[in-house]
Amino acid sequence: MNYQTVVGLEIHAELTTKTKIFCACAPRFGQKPNTAVCPICLGYPGTLPILNRQTVLCSIKAGLALGCQIHLKSRFDRKNYFYPDLPKGYQITQFYEPIGTGGAVEIPEFHKTVNITRIHIEEDAGKLIHENGVTKVDYNRAGVPLIEIVTEPELSSGKEAAALAREIALLLKTAGVCTCKMAEGALRVDVNVSVMPENSQALGTRTEIKNLNSFQSVRRAVEYEAGRQIALLERGQPILQQTMHFDEQSGITSPMRMKENGDSYRYFPEPDLPELVISQKTLSKISAQMPKMPKELREKYKVMGLSADEAEIFLHDKALADYFHAVIKEYPNCRKAAVFILSEFRRRLRETGLTVKNQRCRAETLAKLLKLTDDGLILRAAAKEHLLTLMTDGGDAAQFVRNSQNGCDEQTILAAAKELIQKEPQALKQYQEGSKKVFGFFVGSLMRRFGKNTDPKMVSGVLKKVLDCKAEECRNGEQ
Ligand SMILES: [Zn+2]
Repeated sequence: MNYQTVVGLEIHAELTTKTKIFCACAPRFGQKPNTAVCPICLGYPGTLPILNRQTVLCSIKAGLALGCQIHLKSRFDRKNYFYPDLPKGYQITQFYEPIGTGGAVEIPEFHKTVNITRIHIEEDAGKLIHENGVTKVDYNRAGVPLIEIVTEPELSSGKEAAALAREIALLLKTAGVCTCKMAEGALRVDVNVSVMPENSQALGTRTEIKNLNSFQSVRRAVEYEAGRQIALLERGQPILQQTMHFDEQSGITSPMRMKENGDSYRYFPEPDLPELVISQKTLSKISAQMPKMPKELREKYKVMGLSADEAEIFLHDKALADYFHAVIKEYPNCRKAAVFILSEFRRRLRETGLTVKNQRCRAETLAKLLKLTDDGLILRAAAKEHLLTLMTDGGDAAQFVRNSQNGCDEQTILAAAKELIQKEPQALKQYQEGSKKVFGFFVGSLMRRFGKNTDPKMVSGVLKKVLDCKAEECRNGEQ
């Protein structure tokens, strides 16, 4: 029998606020454990939460980026459960009335649009650290603001699931609300997986795989889990509704616990927080300030003549994209500028370990370098070398025009070629009579004069032009 895989995502994204959601603690990644904590995020009795305004603004932006309807009124609820990383014994989240519902995200490579069920605001729990048979708790993360994004189960493979997660991460990053650094836990993906016989309407029993921390793991986990479920069905065994763990090393999923349903958390409205009310004015203001989103940017890059792959590099690297845009303000050949930046400029960043921000070739300088190359004042090969100097030492592109007077630029070669031909009327005559050997003599003379730094192809090109031009002149003179 053929089976169909059905996947939905739940994504937790840490919002880029300075402080935690309900207190003034400001944790940084990698900070010493339990140094960004206070009585509020440690859940001491008698403390009260105060909602961080920035959290709400980021959540609105996230919702808009995902095409959700933002609700002007939403509410917080308590999700009750006991776990050592949750000192209050409950998590404050939005269960009954989330801030956003009903969005949609397009996955370009699959030409598919997936519906977003909802997004809601919640606080993160602390982190358990298992070391040498001992478990320690770090509460720095307790109370970090999150949005949870829940998609409809409309994906049908691990590849699609990974592509959707990647696209959502790009949207959040572009909106400026999450770093999406998965290795730091800033973006964590849960996948819901079920399988059903092809053409069936009834969804199978689903399992949830928690906390996947790379897009590759999303794909692998879905593929493995769908295979495991199909094998069970083939053997006539039931699929249990479970929460699973994915082991990166072995690529295998294993059960963590039986899946709780909503009832077991005894959700009820959070009594310590009022209703969350957003004014229409605030919402309109944020909508108007939203940056250009990937869909629009992809169109823009396409019009500029960039390939889809080239565009994706800029979409995922804002600093590089900003640099590119600054270059094309001064040098409007977008395609040429993009190719040079994506290949030569990026290669040197990799080689030197510099970043777009701390390298020293300003965008205007790069534009000038490209322009001088187009005008033939700097050799293409030399421009690539100069780029490295400009990036490490700074300076002006024009200095290389002067510095290359000893033989590298086209203008000098042109002048020298004219001079040489003038001096060798005999050789010119032989060339005009069709001698190929004498052309080699001309090239050799110039190469000897200017040294091996000079591009022989360019020398031949220039010589041919001058010689043919001379021949034309002679013919006209004879007539
Ligand atoms: Zn705190």
